[in-house]
Amino acid sequence: MTAFRSSVPCRQRKYIISAVLIIGCFGFFLVVQQTANSAEDYEKEYPLQLENEVLKICNENNIDYRKSLYTSALYDTTDEPSTTQRNHHHHQQQQELQMQLPLSNGTEPMIYFVTPTYPRREQIPEIIRLGQTLMHVPRLHWIVADDTDSCSDTLNRHIRKFGIPYTQIASPMPELYRARKNAPRGVANRRAALNWIRQNQKKAGVLYFGDDDNTFDLKLFSEIRTTRKVSMFPVGLIGDYGISTPIVRNGRVEAFFDSWPAKRKWPVDMAGFAVSLGYLALSPNATMPFKAGYEEDEFLKSIGLKMDDIEPKAHNCTEILVWHTQTKSSKSPTVRISMDRQKLDKLNLGALLHQLESMGVNHISNTVGTIAQAIVNGNVKPLSVWFS
Ligand code: UDP
Ligand code: MN
Repeated sequence: MTAFRSSVPCRQRKYIISAVLIIGCFGFFLVVQQTANSAEDYEKEYPLQLENEVLKICNENNIDYRKSLYTSALYDTTDEPSTTQRNHHHHQQQQELQMQLPLSNGTEPMIYFVTPTYPRREQIPEIIRLGQTLMHVPRLHWIVADDTDSCSDTLNRHIRKFGIPYTQIASPMPELYRARKNAPRGVANRRAALNWIRQNQKKAGVLYFGDDDNTFDLKLFSEIRTTRKVSMFPVGLIGDYGISTPIVRNGRVEAFFDSWPAKRKWPVDMAGFAVSLGYLALSPNATMPFKAGYEEDEFLKSIGLKMDDIEPKAHNCTEILVWHTQTKSSKSPTVRISMDRQKLDKLNLGALLHQLESMGVNHISNTVGTIAQAIVNGNVKPLSVWFS
């Protein structure tokens, strides 16, 4: 610093000081401006009603094709056992099945299970895993709301084969939010599902938000089905405690245990509560705002929830019936195949790779990517060498 002073003439020094001051002021102005901008952005995250929010129903099925699962046929033990031993096993198996599969008399409250989902390479495997869980749950309507502009056929082909009554919706996140670093994920979809519930005048039954990356114990469904207003229960694999749960004493919810309080009145996970549709209908303006991290809190505030309205479930919140499993996501690889498509199509690989490409699991190229090789008796050579 001293060296600098002595080597610069006085007038020049003045210029330099002014320049530093101007740049400094400008920098300060930028910082202030930036802060103001983010405060503004924050405010913008509150619109409760979006203009032009459309409800695009892609496909709907109201027939329960799984009914045979719950009829007595499944529990019928008239099969001729070949040995006593087998008979014993058979009985045991039947008993275990009865424990897993709840019988239905067709009059229980419906569960409206809302799953926001979005196209990425893990989408279809997630939907298969979830759909096969839901296949075991009687009296359930599955609302699958896809974060897309248009209806996905690939998604529909998979949903409809479960035989579960369902509604497939296309409900894209508004571009304004998608551009954000911390986008409100799954909000446009859940709002669309709420709109569907309202438009279809569903005022009996139970609403539950079940994301596509969660794991559900079948017992969860019999627990939430009897929700009077709002029920709550623990969710495993959340945050730094490994769990998010209400704290229950003497059968009442008194507080919350969640490693991210963030000034939330209702610091719970999306999968940690269910709402009866009768109770929801009392708040016609209830909605979920586009506010990342505060979706649950704001939704529960919007239905005017009070501490006394909460019923703890899962044996006074001592059981974990739902887990935020999450799925490791990785980039889709490119497979380099020099063979021409027609030849590839003569092998099973043609159909397989085509299918995976349509799901975005991988890409096929003839110029770049990992060279596709086949192994014959331990010899590894490009596909085109073996199958030309
Ligand atoms: N989701 C979506 N659009 C997106 C990202 C996520 O619809 O751009 C869905 C996703 O399928 C999931 C839910 O929103 O059911 C929550 O998303 P994610 O699991 O990625 O977020 P987190 O659980 O970490 O909040
Ligand atoms: Mn998730």
